[in-house]
Amino acid sequence: MPSTKSPRPEPGSLLELSPKALRAWLAERGLPVYRATQILAWVYRRGAASFAAMTDLPRELRAELEGTFAFPELVPTRVSRSADHTRKLLFDLGDGNAIESVLIPDPPRLTLCISSQAGCAMDCGFCATAQLGLRRNLSSVEIAGQVRAAQAQLDPDERITNLVFMGMGEPLHNYDAVVEAIATISSDWGIGISARRITVSTVGLVPRMLRLVTDTAALLAVSLTATTDELRDRLMPVNRRYPLAELMGMCRSLPIPQRRRITFEYVMLDGVNDSLDDARRLVRLLTGIRSKVNLIPFNPFPGTDFRPSAPEVIERFQRLLLDANVNATVRRSRGRDIQAACGQLALANRDGDVAPICLLYTSDAADE
Ligand code: SAH
Repeated sequence: MPSTKSPRPEPGSLLELSPKALRAWLAERGLPVYRATQILAWVYRRGAASFAAMTDLPRELRAELEGTFAFPELVPTRVSRSADHTRKLLFDLGDGNAIESVLIPDPPRLTLCISSQAGCAMDCGFCATAQLGLRRNLSSVEIAGQVRAAQAQLDPDERITNLVFMGMGEPLHNYDAVVEAIATISSDWGIGISARRITVSTVGLVPRMLRLVTDTAALLAVSLTATTDELRDRLMPVNRRYPLAELMGMCRSLPIPQRRRITFEYVMLDGVNDSLDDARRLVRLLTGIRSKVNLIPFNPFPGTDFRPSAPEVIERFQRLLLDANVNATVRRSRGRDIQAACGQLALANRDGDVAPICLLYTSDAADE
């Protein structure tokens, strides 16, 4: 029987301890479902290091769990700390894939940015992750595991206040795992970060946006980045499937509580989407939607032809939005010295030992 201390059991030999798999396994054995909550609380809330440590479970059950499930732990292979206290965690998934999470302090907030897939299938022209293609979906255990691993890196006085799915991957393209991870992260038996402080960022997979706000209390962020179908088709191929009218129509009709807003991310690309006409079209697109806009200066990566818009161009763009009563913030780049900003991770990993990925450095997308 493999030891629970082993960080990575032989692939296929043990099951992953997802809430769903655990409940199914208990049910199969005719064991009460409350055991699932008890076991998961040991893992996520009480920080047990092994099944053996779950002292209020019958000894035989502990042994059976050990023989059946891998104890969920995701151990970072590298943690880099930036001068601005941004921390980047690199995880080697053991199958040739790597992902990263970034902790971004912005007192009183501490935001964790996590990945939902290794690579990405969405193929956005300005994103480094797109170059990898989709390597694979992360499991709910791997997604929630990033949060646990980040918690282990906190200083004693720190606490994660917000969580954003703005790392690698398209969260709504890995829907079931993301929703299960949100349950693990937000429930009482789990990590206990309220779903209202979790933001899921999407390229705009329209039908799943509706499912997400129906199935969870998480906030939604939509990566817009273009104000015409002609440009968005080119920058974000998903637009050919779900064009702007459909996307904005869905945003307008989503059943979102009155006091909440949808965040729209807009990557500022020099000479591509940063004119005042773009800003005016953006204002029109957002009419009737409780929204806020995050303007993100493009982070260049090797091989890209795009350049970031100049600060004064971004400021002019923002001013037009503000004058039209559209809430707009310019994202500061964080963790540049440790390549934690979006598109920079390809640089960080150029030694070739892990796959390059792309992350965003935003920190307040989940404000209420
Ligand atoms: N797939 C999801 C979440 C991951 S990307 C989505 O697209 O929303 C998170 C954010 O980073 C998105 O808003 C994306 O547009 C932005 N982004 C991607 N590449 C970037 C780059 N090179 N510079 C700045 N922002 C980038």
